Amino acid sequence: MSAPDRDDSIFSQLEAFGHKKVVYCSDPDTGLKAIIAIHDTTLGPALGGTRMWAYKTESDALQDVLRLSKSMTYKASIAGLNLGGGKAVIIGDSHRDKSEALLRKFGRFIKNLNGEFITAEDVGTNPRDMEYIRMETQHVMGVPESIGGSGDPSPITALGVFMGIKACVKELYGNDNLAGRSVIVQGIGHVGEKLVKLLRDENVKVYATDINEDSLGQIAKKYGAEAVSNSKIFEIDADIYAPCALGATINSETIKKLKCGIIAGSANNQLEDEIVDGRMLLEKGILFAPDYVINAGGIINCYSELMGFSKKRTMQLTENIYEATRNVLKLSKCENISTIEAANKIAEKRIADIKKVKSSY
Ligand code: NAD
Repeated sequence: MSAPDRDDSIFSQLEAFGHKKVVYCSDPDTGLKAIIAIHDTTLGPALGGTRMWAYKTESDALQDVLRLSKSMTYKASIAGLNLGGGKAVIIGDSHRDKSEALLRKFGRFIKNLNGEFITAEDVGTNPRDMEYIRMETQHVMGVPESIGGSGDPSPITALGVFMGIKACVKELYGNDNLAGRSVIVQGIGHVGEKLVKLLRDENVKVYATDINEDSLGQIAKKYGAEAVSNSKIFEIDADIYAPCALGATINSETIKKLKCGIIAGSANNQLEDEIVDGRMLLEKGILFAPDYVINAGGIINCYSELMGFSKKRTMQLTENIYEATRNVLKLSKCENISTIEAANKIAEKRIADIKKVKSSY
C-alpha cells in the first residue's frame, strides 16, 4: 500500500482528535500563516487563545493546535460553561514577525467564522494584540479593562487553583482548613505570585521556587515565604506541590521522588504521559487535581466577558471549581481510575448529554 499523501495524513489526524473544523489562514502580504482548530461546539462557540510560536514545522503547529483545542473542549465542559473548544496558532516569532496588519488580517479570518470561534490571548500574544484583532471582529475576549474587557485573568486563575487545593485537602484530611499545611509553589509568575498570597493569607507554610532568582527573593520576602532552589523541591517534605510554571514536570522520574500527598497547580499539561503518570500517581496514593479542572479561571474570565462582565458571577463560577474537583476525586476513588481519566469522563458525559438535548425537539 502506498504511503498516505499529506492531505490524507491531515484528515486522519483530524479524525483521531475528533475535530469539527480546521481553518488554514494564509496571507502573503502580511506574512500571516495561522491555523484555527475548532474541536467541538456542542456546548457553545469554540473559545480558545491564539498562540504565536516559531514552530519548526507546519506539522508541529497542526499537532499543537489540535491538542490544545481538544483540551479547551474538556476545560469548558467540566467548568460548566456553555462553550466549545478551539484554539489558534500563528506560525512565527512573536518578537520579530508580529504586526498590526498581520493581526488584523488574522482578525478577518476569525470574523469569517461568524462567531463559531472566539479567541483570547495566549503564549506569544497580549491584550494589545487582542485590541488589533478586535478592530476587525467582535469575536475576541481578554481585551484590556479600559476598553470594556475582563483584563488580566491571573488572579481568577490563582483563585481557582486555591479552590482546587482546598478540595484536595478536604478529600485527604477530612476538612479543607489550610492553616498549618505546607505548599511548594513552583513558578511565581502571574498566577504563582497570587497563589502565594492566597496561601499565606490562610497561614500556609509556602516554599517558593522560580528560575528568576531576583523576583523569587523579592516575592518570598513580600509574603513571608521560604525561597528554595528549583533543584531541591523534590527533597522537601511538603503536603502539596503546586506546579505553576511549565508542563510535564510530573513524570515517572519525579513521581518516584515526590513526598507530597497532593499535586494541584496552574501549569497546563502537568503529566508527561496522561495515562501512565495518572495511574502511577493513583497507585502511589498521590491526589492529582487535573490541571484543566483547576486552572479554568482564565476561560471563566473570558466567558464572563462574553456574557457581559460581572465580577460576582466570575467569582461564583471560579468557586465552583471546588465542587468540580471534589466530583473528579470521588469518581476516581469510586471507579479506581486516575483523576485525569475521571475528569475526562465527566467532561465527555456533559457534552454527550447536551448533544441529546440539542438533537431532541
Ligand atoms: P508566567 O510566565 O507569568 O509565570 C511563569 C513563572 O514560572 C515565571 O516566573 C518563570 O520565571 C517561572 N519558570 C519558568 N520555568 C521555570 C522552571 N523550570 N522552574 C521554576 N520556575 C520556572 O505565567 P503565568 O501566567 O503565571 O502561568 C503559569 C502557568 O499557568 C503556565 O503554565 C500557564 O500556561 C498556566 N495557566 C495560566 C493561566 C493564567 O490565567 N495566566 C490560565 C491557565 C493556565
